[in-house]
Amino acid sequence: MKKGLVVSVVLLITTLFIFPSSTAISAAVRSVCIDPGHGGADIGTSNGGITEKDLNLNVANKLASILIANGYTVYQTRTTDVTLSNRDRYTFCNGAWADILVSIHHNGSTNPDIDYSTALYMKKSDVDLARSLVNTLSGKLGTTNNGINRFASGVLIKAKMPAAISEGFFLTSSYEYSLLTDGTDKRAQDEAQALYEGIVSYFATH
Ligand SMILES: [Zn+2]
Repeated sequence: MKKGLVVSVVLLITTLFIFPSSTAISAAVRSVCIDPGHGGADIGTSNGGITEKDLNLNVANKLASILIANGYTVYQTRTTDVTLSNRDRYTFCNGAWADILVSIHHNGSTNPDIDYSTALYMKKSDVDLARSLVNTLSGKLGTTNNGINRFASGVLIKAKMPAAISEGFFLTSSYEYSLLTDGTDKRAQDEAQALYEGIVSYFATH
């Protein structure tokens, strides 16, 4: 143990010496605060027996697993079905000093034919993250890309880091409902993968 530790320290010092600053900086672990929208008494939109709060949490948990497996640090505002205020959400993410905040939602409409991806931003520093997310969502899910829209969400306004709300697709869409009830959970897994790829793409240039 002790000998191994000494070897590790020597290797670390050697590495830092041979590859100055740039290596040390690029090796920094990126952190993501995932915020599954709604929860508890607040169910969000719904379709049949599927509530937005449950779908948001399912996608969030899948995204967290992918991020952790790829070496990212993850904070998550809720991992169970609890009611949270916007204040609870941004306070948690700000307190964690996360690099970015990604809030996961799904859209709703009275028209079951409407379905598209969009991402919401508020601050100028949110724009690139929102754009990256909607592009990978639309690309991987095969949905219409409705681009990004400015939205005065309490979470986005108060977040100290770049933040965006993902609206992956319309839960109320009859097409999405058929995918969500095919018994495979593939739609949620694909969405989580798309969000992951959007995050990686954002970090590649920020
Ligand atoms: Zn929502």
